[in-house]
Amino acid sequence: MAERETNGRKPRRDRIAWLEGGDSRCLTKPPPVALPRRLVLLGAPGVGKGTQAELLSARIGACPLSTGDVFRAAKLSKDCRCSPALEAARECMARGELVSDETVLAVVKERSQCLCCCGGFLLDGFPRTVAQAQALEELLAAEEVALDAVLSYELPIERIVARLSGRLTCSRCKSVFHAEARPPRAGGICDHCGGALFQRADDLPETVRVRMQAYERSTAPLADFYRERDLLISIPAEGTPEEIFERALHALETL
Ligand code: AMP
Repeated sequence: MAERETNGRKPRRDRIAWLEGGDSRCLTKPPPVALPRRLVLLGAPGVGKGTQAELLSARIGACPLSTGDVFRAAKLSKDCRCSPALEAARECMARGELVSDETVLAVVKERSQCLCCCGGFLLDGFPRTVAQAQALEELLAAEEVALDAVLSYELPIERIVARLSGRLTCSRCKSVFHAEARPPRAGGICDHCGGALFQRADDLPETVRVRMQAYERSTAPLADFYRERDLLISIPAEGTPEEIFERALHALETL
């Protein structure tokens, strides 16, 4: 695969293998990690999982792997590079509905190499249904790895809607900012890679409502699934991103 443009900056862990799937390989290898963490991040859309995934990744070295990012990357790419599974996901996503379990699992299986990465992983946005969680359990068992914990970020719905309306995403490296809570240093420009920031179509109010309903119906039962397996750790998601991050770190240290 061709060397990617880094504009003279130190390349970040690039998640190329995760975003593109197939034969793609990451350009920056994970640094050796003494204790690779394999975590699932749970929480309603907008609770701040993306930001927490980045903060955790910087500290513990595991790559944030978001299925939403895979679908968005597919949406931006030319049709010929999209697998049929990804093409099928586009319309659901535009409506704010969940993509079918079958499609999501096809996408994750295409990328199972990322689940065996020696740096560990932080799954963000997957699993979203109990059926996906069961499939993940089987996939991990086949790869002979296991989850260490499931961090469940918890916040009242009205606070989440306020967060979503100010959220800004980098079009290049997918870093997440917030117009008020976590503004970029220069307006509209990503601090990390200089990419343009944009508001995701699925962060618009009417789509947010549908996403919340989908979350309540399909994803909330996951907490019980993981509680039964003694993997669930509740993290109150009030406060600054750094405060929430410290809570999660403290919880992980006690594992
Ligand atoms: P996210 O960025 O995680 O909020 O995902 C954005 C959109 O991608 C969701 O609203 C869904 O349409 C779709 N999506 C991402 N991950 C999943 C998943 N695990 N199951 C079903 N749909 C998903």
